[in-house]
Amino acid sequence: MKTYRIATIPGDGIGKEVVPAGREVLEAVAASSSGIAFDFEDFGWGGDWFRAHGEMMPANGLEALKGKDAILFGSAGDPHIPDHITLWGLRLKICQGFDQYANVRPTRILRGIDAPLKRCGPDDLNWVIVRENSEGEYSGVGGRVHQGHPIEAATDVSIMTRVGVERILRYAFQLAQSRPRKQLTVVTKSNAQRHAMVMWDEIAAEVAAGFPDVKWDKELVDAMTARMVNKPATLDTIVATNLHADILSDLAAALAGSLGIAPTGNIDPERRYPSMFEPIHGSAFDIMGQGLANPVGTFWSVVMLLEHLGEHAAAQRVMAAIEQVTADPGLHTRDLGGRATTAQVTQAVCALVAGSA
Ligand code: ATP
Ligand code: MG
Repeated sequence: MKTYRIATIPGDGIGKEVVPAGREVLEAVAASSSGIAFDFEDFGWGGDWFRAHGEMMPANGLEALKGKDAILFGSAGDPHIPDHITLWGLRLKICQGFDQYANVRPTRILRGIDAPLKRCGPDDLNWVIVRENSEGEYSGVGGRVHQGHPIEAATDVSIMTRVGVERILRYAFQLAQSRPRKQLTVVTKSNAQRHAMVMWDEIAAEVAAGFPDVKWDKELVDAMTARMVNKPATLDTIVATNLHADILSDLAAALAGSLGIAPTGNIDPERRYPSMFEPIHGSAFDIMGQGLANPVGTFWSVVMLLEHLGEHAAAQRVMAAIEQVTADPGLHTRDLGGRATTAQVTQAVCALVAGSA
């Protein structure tokens, strides 16, 4: 029997609904699989913690997470707390503290989902976007001077290091190599960003030399948005900087049908620290507490978590259960045009996971 230590951090808003739902799915996996068990520990960090303690998570929070095998995260965001506090005080603290430098977002149109690209068949859109998650445009370096005066100025410095660029490109080439099409698109903007992105292109070519079996090409980020819409089938694995991939992956999620479906993993490929899995949506306070939250993004994140633990059979069972549920319009939540509740979708997925053992 293998027991995995899992940290759950629901965070704010609908995170408090979808993370417990994700835990139920993991419990269904454990109940129906010989050989897999989970030891859960829940952390009540986020906006409520901030109101009580003046910080989004305790100073020794990373220590408490360090020994876990994986983290299931909800969302950090609260209408009464500035975004830079909720974001930097919790989610990014964990991503940076554990050097989860690869943000990985699979995108595919699940069975039964009415996606906006009408000319696109379900098999034409099957991507994984790899986002640099530790540096670049979101390094947090910069400043603002002379506020309120005519000479006011501000900078956000994008820092790209050779080590940081090389490791994310290597990860992306390895991921592309592991997928059937063995194809990688490196997103760039070296025609306009003439320093860091030129280095990015050079390092891409260097890393590519070690992967002769991977077909790769370069695409400018602006042209990339059009290609994702017009020629989705020409793409497979995609790698981009922190900012570029942030934008492209929201586009990808929308093309796949709904924000409520898409998952992501913040991965430490070297496995020095736990990796963290979460739906891409935020706290969605507008629908909080009404049972309207679509838990599918969290369930797909659970699939990624299981893959990361090496539990491929269990991951496949959960993914098959998810697609059986999305194929049934009677089990669509409101964001997908249906009337099902978070609890109904969760029960349906858990029953299928249990039944497929
Ligand atoms: P944050 O500030 O934490 O990013 P947000 O409310 O700005 O949160 P999101 O939570 O990403 O942004 O969502 C935008 C909108 O999409 C929400 O208002 C909500 O109506 C809808 N939405 C997001 N996630 C889901 C979900 N899982 N199920 C149903 N609707 C969702
Ligand atoms: Mg938001």
